[in-house]
Amino acid sequence: MADANGILVFGDAPDGQLASTAQELLAAGRSLADALNQELAIAIIGADVADAPRQAIAHGADKAYAVTNPSLGDYHPDLYLAAMQTVADEDNPSIILISRNNEGRELAPRLAFRLGVGLAQDCLEVSADAATGRLLANRPVYGGSAIAVVSCTHTPQIAALRPKTYEPLDADAGRSGQVVAFPVDIDASAAKTRVINVVKEEAAGIKLEDARIVVSGGRGLGGPEPFSQLEELAGLLGGAVGASRAAVDSGWVPANYQVGLTGKTITPDLYITVAISGASQHMAGCSGSKAIVAINKDADANIFKEARYGVVGDWEKVIPALTETVRELTQ
Ligand code: FAD
Repeated sequence: MADANGILVFGDAPDGQLASTAQELLAAGRSLADALNQELAIAIIGADVADAPRQAIAHGADKAYAVTNPSLGDYHPDLYLAAMQTVADEDNPSIILISRNNEGRELAPRLAFRLGVGLAQDCLEVSADAATGRLLANRPVYGGSAIAVVSCTHTPQIAALRPKTYEPLDADAGRSGQVVAFPVDIDASAAKTRVINVVKEEAAGIKLEDARIVVSGGRGLGGPEPFSQLEELAGLLGGAVGASRAAVDSGWVPANYQVGLTGKTITPDLYITVAISGASQHMAGCSGSKAIVAINKDADANIFKEARYGVVGDWEKVIPALTETVRELTQ
């Protein structure tokens, strides 16, 4: 696109509150905007985005589009895509950032296709070359064993950022910015897919992605029952339970427990792995943890290379002892 300028990020506002993924994108977008001396805009999509545009300005945006239409109340891929394309055409940004959350995984490639450009998928970090205006996006390759730096050759340059890789900026209610009402015309009947039902994920306790402490179990647990012991330990610590893909694939816990390349990315303060070998695909989802504690009976397991503290031993002995100690300390 000729004369493209500015950084545009996409977000939504469930229940009128700016989504945490949108806040993370604003943090990433702010660093690009400052490096390139360009404006940072956010397009917030929904039926009614309430106060979210002002929240976005407090979190770093220079401009916030309130992109509204009654048919945008619940997420719908075709309708959200149409709204995004309309804003992208109007705003004409040089760089677009999208969260690689569940919706973004679906929307980012489709938006790139519609705009006739490429996409840097699953990025961990973005930076900009001030001399050329080029976006440089770091993304894991070979199952997380190496990091590739991707540069896009067409404008707008689009990157999909993995959630939880950027900390939102502290909100500053005094920041000034422009709120732009942007009602969009959407022909809901043109949608090629139909949303039949929306089922909210049952979440007892803290969500895995938000937990400051996570206890994860792997194949070495041997079955689903031991997860109740991990639940007990996590409960005492005020944390959440996760799992390796091997445990999920065995049907011991639901898929939304999975941490890793094809599961969730988490960045807790403390990550306790129990009977997990530490495959690169698992570590791709937890390497941002501040401290990893590994419990594994194999002293040569890869997880010990990643862990700050390790216990070589049988989980059946270690977990009850650890749980008892935590119980005594927390009572
Ligand atoms: P294993 O590798 O089998 O390890 C079990 C561990 O338990 C061993 O280290 C063993 O020493 C230990 N153990 C056994 N008994 C005990 C005991 N009594 N006490 C203590 N320790 C014990 N994996 C993920 O986790 N997340 C992903 O998102 C993911 N995505 C993938 C994507 C692709 C494209 C591919 C190819 C693979 C992916 N995987 C993912 C799979 C990954 O490669 C590993 O196979 C998986 O992580 C192994 O899970 P695990 O550590 O539980 O099992």
